[in-house]
Amino acid sequence: MARKPLVAGNWKMNKTAAEAVSLINGLKEVASNCGDDVEIVVAPPFTALHSVKTIFDLDRVNMALGAQNMFYETEGAFTGEISPRMLQAEHCRYVILGHSERRQYFGETDEAVNRKAKVVFEHDMTPIVCCGESLETHEAEKTAEWITEQVSAAITGLLPEHAARLVIAYEPIWAIGTGKTATPDMAQEVCELIRTVVTEMFDEDIAATARILYGGSVTELNAHLFFAADDIDGALVGGAALDAQSFGKIIKAACGCG
Ligand code: PEP
Repeated sequence: MARKPLVAGNWKMNKTAAEAVSLINGLKEVASNCGDDVEIVVAPPFTALHSVKTIFDLDRVNMALGAQNMFYETEGAFTGEISPRMLQAEHCRYVILGHSERRQYFGETDEAVNRKAKVVFEHDMTPIVCCGESLETHEAEKTAEWITEQVSAAITGLLPEHAARLVIAYEPIWAIGTGKTATPDMAQEVCELIRTVVTEMFDEDIAATARILYGGSVTELNAHLFFAADDIDGALVGGAALDAQSFGKIIKAACGCG
């Protein structure tokens, strides 16, 4: 089953709206060359979503918009939160959920990720569900157990038609923003395990269409090594997504044209 590669840029708490537009301007050419072969997603901060959406519409940019987080209620007295309706109104297609930084600094739990994932699908968007183990868990050789538990908790109870559209990003915490990466073999092994978890919770056809990404210090220099692995369908990119040239080269590596 051929899965369309997906390369997503998680901009984290970087870029004003004006800076976001200038980064998108730098990506237009690669999006027009590769956007049919690779799904290109950018997840700017909430304050830049509207500006980015506007430039996508005006210039017909072949990229999709993502958000970095979302609350699970549709509206109400939840000061500081952003709802699925608001993201849908900005034409977001993806929402990153359970990023390790949200788990670590903002107390996001597996239960919240699961609840949010269901709501994201109910609003015709797709979650990019993040999972990943700490250095301690990695060194204790408990990665498989940790990932099985985290992924199972995040996707339990999803409708099968939703599960088939899932995007799951494997991001070892020790590789995020550190310049250290998992080896492509290690990343493949965990991504294969994630596909097995999806098979066991749903079925093989669903697992064959769900896309699994690797994230953790992906750069223009190493991206092709991950993209060559059977169960890795793209990348979730942090630091290197903030630079149009670097992100463009990662997109080209997924496209196979660069
Ligand atoms: C991320 O934040 O999801 C990430 C993978 O960051 P980096 O690429 O900078 O390691």
